[in-house]
Amino acid sequence: MDAKTIGKVKIWLSAPHMGGLEQHYVQEAFETNWIAPLGANVTGFEQKLADFLNENSFVAALSSGTAAIHLGLKLLGVKRGDAVLCQSFTFSASANPIEYLGATPIFIDSESDTWNMSPQLLEEAIVASIAEGKKPKAIIAVHLYGMPYKVQEIKNISEKYDIPILEDSAEALGSTYHGVKCGTFGDIGILSFNGNKIITTSGGGALVTKDPEIKEKAIFLATQARDKAPHYQHSVIGHNYRMSNILAGIGRGQMEVLEDRVIARRNNYQFYKEHLQHLGGIEFLEEPEGFFSNRWLTCMLSESYEMREAIRISLSEENVECRPLWKPMHRQPVFEQFKSHVNGVSENLFERGLCLPSGTDLSEKVLSRITNIITKTIS
Ligand SMILES: *Cc1c(COP(=O)(O)O)cnc(C)c1O
Repeated sequence: MDAKTIGKVKIWLSAPHMGGLEQHYVQEAFETNWIAPLGANVTGFEQKLADFLNENSFVAALSSGTAAIHLGLKLLGVKRGDAVLCQSFTFSASANPIEYLGATPIFIDSESDTWNMSPQLLEEAIVASIAEGKKPKAIIAVHLYGMPYKVQEIKNISEKYDIPILEDSAEALGSTYHGVKCGTFGDIGILSFNGNKIITTSGGGALVTKDPEIKEKAIFLATQARDKAPHYQHSVIGHNYRMSNILAGIGRGQMEVLEDRVIARRNNYQFYKEHLQHLGGIEFLEEPEGFFSNRWLTCMLSESYEMREAIRISLSEENVECRPLWKPMHRQPVFEQFKSHVNGVSENLFERGLCLPSGTDLSEKVLSRITNIITKTIS
């Protein structure tokens, strides 16, 4: 903390927000001595998630969203040397598991209606890959910042070329597309319960499928892939990716307040929009018809990089945490050498965009403190 920020209460970007019942479930785990990566909280949390998503969902609780993507790609048949299409405008955890498997990413830029994977560029990339004799094995599409991607368009392409979708819904629990919950659209969906997500288990994730056998396979791989035998026998390589019964207790408690958290995040967005949009030079992403975002993080776009930086710096000086939008994967040093299909959309968003504090425990007084700083900076 530098001299300027001393005495100013820190405002976090997206702080955990407990509902009250979490400790009850954690206590239960202690009382029954299920201090393990299995138990009543794990199955209870999975059931609550499945009930929330829809009647056809099967959920496997895992140690992280990243682990869920890793297992999901494996279950979709991705192997060493395969090509995987991945949204470029995302957090690196969407893409890292491609590398874990020894596969190669091809990055796809965004369209400007939802900031997610451009269906046009996706198809272009598939056609180009097939022409080179290499059909991609999977598509990783992301509902970034809670805004659903163009589900129908991406699905049409997936079906036309018979390439399955890994739906990264890490940021979109509680979002819907034409009334249907995000997390249920992909051949496999994934969720995250990391500390800054809309609900949290401190760290955790889940794999979502419509096929109970895929759920069983995910759990098998997540628990060291033990064959059915009295001794320890292994025919495939396993992982230690199951969720702890302690953490699942936090998740069970969090599920009871999820709907409230969606309302609170959307209210943050509304507040920022009402107090900043009239200033000129500031814009917010609207929901296309039929799209409902949980508004995990409220993102503002300023008219230039310079204006974005001025706002970012004055917020930081006032001890307010904020963050530029994700730097696209095709521009990351670690991924730069891979193929990409780009149109400039994500690079432009990265230059002009800023994520504002979006926790569900922010009062109007706190939100006003933030909008006042921004107003003062640009006027
Ligand atoms: C958080 C996040 C992940 C990874 O989830 P973890 O639980 O942190 O491993 C993956 N993709 C996106 C888009 C995320 O925001």
